[in-house]
Amino acid sequence: MEKKKILTGDRPTGKLHLGHYVGSIENRVKLQAEYDCTFIIADLHMLTTKNSTEAIKNSADNAVDMVLDSISAGIDPENVKFYLQSGIPEINEMYTLFQSLITVSRLERVPSLKDMARDANIEMPFALLGYPVLQAADILCIKSHLVPVGKDNVAHVEISREIAKRFNSLYGELFPIPEPLQGKESALIGLYGKQKMSKSANNAIFLSDSPEEVGRKVMKMTTDPNRIRADIPGKVEGNPVFIYHDLFNSDKKEVEELKERYRKGTVGDVEVKEKLSVAINNFLTPFRERREKYQKTGMVEDIILRGTEEVRKEVQQTLYDMKKLMGFTTVVRKLKRKAEKFNEK
Ligand code: ATP
Ligand code: MG
Repeated sequence: MEKKKILTGDRPTGKLHLGHYVGSIENRVKLQAEYDCTFIIADLHMLTTKNSTEAIKNSADNAVDMVLDSISAGIDPENVKFYLQSGIPEINEMYTLFQSLITVSRLERVPSLKDMARDANIEMPFALLGYPVLQAADILCIKSHLVPVGKDNVAHVEISREIAKRFNSLYGELFPIPEPLQGKESALIGLYGKQKMSKSANNAIFLSDSPEEVGRKVMKMTTDPNRIRADIPGKVEGNPVFIYHDLFNSDKKEVEELKERYRKGTVGDVEVKEKLSVAINNFLTPFRERREKYQKTGMVEDIILRGTEEVRKEVQQTLYDMKKLMGFTTVVRKLKRKAEKFNEK
C-alpha cells in the first residue's frame, strides 16, 4: 500500500532551537518512517507579515540553516523532500485559481490572522487574509493527506479542506481532503521562565549551539526565585531547570535524585545546572555528528535544489490536471485551432 502523504514546514526566519525541536521537529522525525513526508520552506509566507528586501535576502541563508538544523535533529534527507516555495511558481498559479472557491467573510472569520496582524503591529494586508488560501495551495499541490499543525493552524487546514471539497464538487475529483494532525499543546518555556522559548526573545538554546554556549546559557537560567540559598527547600514544578531536565536528561534516576535533594534543600543551583548542561550536550551530541557530516560545502543547498525540482514536476502535473478539469486547457486549444484554420486560408 502506498504511504500517506504529509506536508509540513516553516518559514525560513532563522535557526531552530530546542522549542522547535520539542514543538514539531521531534514529531516529524517520528512521522518520516511511516509517511511520505514533504517539507516546505515557506519563504512566500514570510510576505504575510514581513516584506522588506532584508527579510527576503536573508531567507536563502535561513533556509539552509533550517534544513541543516532539521537534518541534524534526525530528519533523513534520503527519505524526505524539502522544497522552496518560491522555487515553484506553479504554487502561485494554484493560489490564484483557488481564490474564487472561498469568500472574504469566511477568511475574516479565521481568528489567528487577526492575532498575527496585531503581533506584527500591522494593519491586515491582503496577503495575510489570503494566507490560508496560499497554504491550501502548499498542501494540495502535492495532494497531501495529512498536515501536522499547532492549535492555531487547525483553522487554516479547515480552509484547505473547504477549498478541496469545493474544487472536487465543482470541477471533478482531484484532491484528497487533507486532515490536520494536531501535535503538543504547550510550548517549551524559555531560559528565564515567564515566556516561551523564541529566537527573538534571546532566551533560546539553538540546536547549533556549541557545548560551551550551552554551558554558558544553562548557567544563566532562572530557577526558583524564592530560593536564595542552597539549603532552602526549592520548588521543582514550573522551574525551567527541571522542565529541561525532564525533557533532555536521559538519566531519569539522576533527575529524580536531584529533584528530591532540591525539594529538601540539599543541592545547590550550580550542581543542578552543571548536570543539566552535561545532559543537554549529551542530547545534542548525535545532532552535532550529523551536522558535521552534512555541513560539507553545498550539500544542503543541493538537497534543497533537488527537492524543489522534484516537487515542481509533481506540482506542474497537478496544475495541468486542475486546469484541464476547469476547462482552461480547452480554451487555449480552441484558440490555437482557430488560428491554424485562419493561417491555412
Ligand atoms: P520569533 O521569535 O521570530 O517569533 P520563534 O522562535 O518564536 O521565532 P517561529 O518561527 O515563530 O519561532 O515558530 C515557528 C513554529 O515553531 C511555531 O509555529 C511553533 O509551532 C513552533 N515553536 C516556536 N517556538 C516554540 C516553543 N518555544 N515551543 C514549542 N514550539 C515552538
Ligand atoms: Mg514566534
